[in-house]
Amino acid sequence: MSDSIASFVKTIKGDVVTPENPDYAKSIARWAKNAERKAKVVVHVKDAEDVVKSISYAKEHKLPIAIRGGGHNAAGASSSEDGLVIDLNRHLNHVRVDAENKLGYVGGGAIWAQVDQEAIKYGLATVGGTVNHTGVAGLTLGGGYGWLSGRHGLAIDNLKQATIVTANGSILTASDTQNQDLFWAIRGGGSNFGIATELVYQLHPQRKTVFAGNAVYTPDKVEKLIELTKKWWDNVGEDEGMIQGVTVAPDGKPIFVIIFFYNGSEAEGRAHYKEFFDVGPVVDTVSEIPYERLNSQLNAQVAHGRCYYLKGVSQVSPNYQATVELLQKVAGLAKGGVFSTSMLHEYFPMAKANSVPVSATAFRRQGASNILTSISWEEDVGKTKEARDLAKELVDIVIRGQGNSLDDAEKSGYTNYGHEDIDVPSANLGSLTGDHAAKRADLAYASNYPRLQEIKKTYDPENIFNRWYPITPA
Ligand SMILES: Cc1cc2nc3c(=O)[nH]c(=O)nc-3n(C[C@H](O)[C@H](O)[C@H](O)COP(=O)(O)OP(=O)(O)OC[C@H]3O[C@@H](n4cnc5c(N)ncnc54)[C@H](O)[C@@H]3O)c2cc1C
Repeated sequence: MSDSIASFVKTIKGDVVTPENPDYAKSIARWAKNAERKAKVVVHVKDAEDVVKSISYAKEHKLPIAIRGGGHNAAGASSSEDGLVIDLNRHLNHVRVDAENKLGYVGGGAIWAQVDQEAIKYGLATVGGTVNHTGVAGLTLGGGYGWLSGRHGLAIDNLKQATIVTANGSILTASDTQNQDLFWAIRGGGSNFGIATELVYQLHPQRKTVFAGNAVYTPDKVEKLIELTKKWWDNVGEDEGMIQGVTVAPDGKPIFVIIFFYNGSEAEGRAHYKEFFDVGPVVDTVSEIPYERLNSQLNAQVAHGRCYYLKGVSQVSPNYQATVELLQKVAGLAKGGVFSTSMLHEYFPMAKANSVPVSATAFRRQGASNILTSISWEEDVGKTKEARDLAKELVDIVIRGQGNSLDDAEKSGYTNYGHEDIDVPSANLGSLTGDHAAKRADLAYASNYPRLQEIKKTYDPENIFNRWYPITPA
């Protein structure tokens, strides 16, 4: 250990991990194996002061900075090759509920399971991710869709305040009344403006059980199901939602899975979705479950430690032909024995989220719903490029199915579902420059981009936070 790092270690309340440390492999591990990078230093920070010191050390030693929350960015945005990682997950992961004021105070490294479990003890909840091992901060700063979006909008619409450590080492409160420009920018601008050490959420009264679970259908039922979906989606209410998955069963045969959600009892949910159940699923696990299990239903399908390639695309309306084509395609891929593929169509009611003007936050709101393409495989990180090409083929099927009506931003999908362009020579997104970075930023932020550039100039003029759809300072 060099003298400089030894004296740095002494100033830090958390843990500083370097490659020779036995903890190193654990410290650079990510949800997606192919998102791991060999950092020079990982700082498991304990508080905002640790973050300030870490930024200062990184700047002094010219180390690129990455910020790790829940560690789910499959492109490596929270990892750094040869740089310094500020990791909030290990220590800065508190969740405290102020039941009287219905507020949740959440550490910048917490995951959604912690929020769901703590808040529901008080009969409260907020909009969080549908896989509860994802990070609270990464998901929120990039927008944040979830099962409760129908009633409460996006995660950013429920964010009341955040503590942000900015590039010059200031610890700022961002809210509607303090540093309003920063508050506007972080709600959709991702990790471009600093490190969120605490996020404060509006919590809402939530019943303790919900109707949710999986129904698995054979492909011959898909035509009827898509017809029912169109009818249902046209009249969707605030307290419901579905994720429809195109994937394969363990025997390699294509299946169509619907995860149902109804914020009510089993009797109410069954009655509400009766026509879907009448179609005759081959498996039906939908039941009344404790609220805190709602966001764990997909966990097993997206376990830690595999390689993943994720890609987003939007969808304006359900499409039967495209769904059939996707079923054939994923079954064909399964035959190869390498890739596990799923296309997850998220039907979260959008009216509430879209009632917020596009200019009210930095997030690029869109009318359409999201589809997440997920391709996973074991071990061989070298297959990322192949997975990328396959993901593009799948997404193209969706785009064609929408009659090419999607604009470019919708084609590139939800920012939090995007992957980095792996043609970039260095694995670091921070190396993105020039036209390439500008094009990505344009798609990610659309009409909000010029204002984001101005705010970036104020808070991060040297662009040290440049790993997630980097914004070029004005
Ligand atoms: C299996 C799976 C399911 C998902 N489901 C949903 C879903 O239901 N709804 C939804 O909206 N999205 C969903 N997502 C997308 C998810 O929102 C993003 O992957 C998100 O970036 C994950 O955040 P993280 O903190 O876990 O990741 P990380 O890899 O730690 O971080 C992601 C980005 O956020 C930055 N970041 C993390 N913490 C902080 C912080 N404290 N301060 C500043 N920047 C920070 C990182 O630097 C990085 O740029 C899902 C993703 C996966 C992999």
